[in-house]
Amino acid sequence: MVDPGPAWPVASAAGCRIRLADGRELVDGMSSWWCAIHGYNHPALNEAVADQLGRMAHVMFGGLTHEPAMALGRRLIDIVPAGLDRVFFCDSGSVAVEVAIKMALQYWFAQGQPRKARLLTLRGGYHGDTFGAMAVCDPVNGMHERFTPVLARHLFAPRPRSRFGGPLQPGDLDEFTALLGAHAQELAAVILEPIVQGAGGMWFYCAEYLAGVAALCREHDVLLIADEIATGFGRTGRLFACEHAGISPDILCLGKALTGGYLTLAATLTSGRVARGISADGGPLMHGPTFMANPLACAVAARSIDLLIEGPWQARVAAIEAQLRAELGPLSAHPAVAEVRVLGAIGVVQTRQPVPVEPLQRHFVGAGAWIRPFGHLVYLMPPFVISPGELSLLTRAVASGLDTLT
Ligand SMILES: *Cc1c(COP(=O)(O)O)cnc(C)c1O
Repeated sequence: MVDPGPAWPVASAAGCRIRLADGRELVDGMSSWWCAIHGYNHPALNEAVADQLGRMAHVMFGGLTHEPAMALGRRLIDIVPAGLDRVFFCDSGSVAVEVAIKMALQYWFAQGQPRKARLLTLRGGYHGDTFGAMAVCDPVNGMHERFTPVLARHLFAPRPRSRFGGPLQPGDLDEFTALLGAHAQELAAVILEPIVQGAGGMWFYCAEYLAGVAALCREHDVLLIADEIATGFGRTGRLFACEHAGISPDILCLGKALTGGYLTLAATLTSGRVARGISADGGPLMHGPTFMANPLACAVAARSIDLLIEGPWQARVAAIEAQLRAELGPLSAHPAVAEVRVLGAIGVVQTRQPVPVEPLQRHFVGAGAWIRPFGHLVYLMPPFVISPGELSLLTRAVASGLDTLT
């Protein structure tokens, strides 16, 4: 508010390049916070928005419906984990999380179980910036620590220790199991980010842990909310991260890459069972955002999903993963580096000390790369359409940036 850091004016963006007002071009390593999976200024996505704009930009979604929303809903139901066939459209990821929490609470209220009103989550998580979402972010790393006194008090299990790709470590699920067992009577739902914890620490955990959580939720009659806002649409090498563990949650949150980075839109999906439960006392779900199912956003989201599904996304993500392993992997020997980890189109360099964000970002811009580090983390999350040469420019920038830290 009073002393903002530097901000580089952007004139345009195309493909994987962000063009600054001074004419310099930066290769995009962030996909604009995980969203722009097809790159910028994509002809097919531009066309989807323009076509829809010629018909209508928006109409209210109460008592009216439209083809862009129905087409997008059908596509989502086709591709998400089995059993999720009810779709609620809302404005942003955080709101999708609010809606998911409300679905879970209203489900239990309508069953005559008002005591089931708390949530259990994992430390190291991030679920958004609104009040319901803040209350399930990591209480320390989650950016919202100062609001703790006014947030709902939920339960936190430790961050999983077992790593992605490895076995479940003995005892890793114990504390989660104990919390769930002790509090099942007052728990509406477990909420977590499947496989990849994003903004709370860029941590990749064991699929068996996630499968264990899903089984325990069923056993104790607690709903499972999977927040795939960051992981959805191929980023981890599967279309949805839940697929790594072969699970279907009761409620699924989608956002970020949903529109290919064009417009703000999110969706919360649930099963027929939960939907009927919510309405068991005769009421609808009590949420109704003004811009619900905005037609422009729905039209571009449907086109983005078609582009993804019809294109070679698995091969692209696998190639990015292999190149990130080859080019970031050796940095684990760098004196400033604690660890390098790669999963799908996500490459993470964890540093020993917190990074000096401003000078490091200046260095990256000087090297022609758009990379925004935070905390102990320098990470790459490029558009899936990035070329090997562009990706190498990013990994070289990371390497030379780390040299400035020692
Ligand atoms: C970004 C994110 C959110 C919040 O989405 P917004 O669109 O920024 O409100 C919620 N959950 C996860 C896992 C996210 O990565």
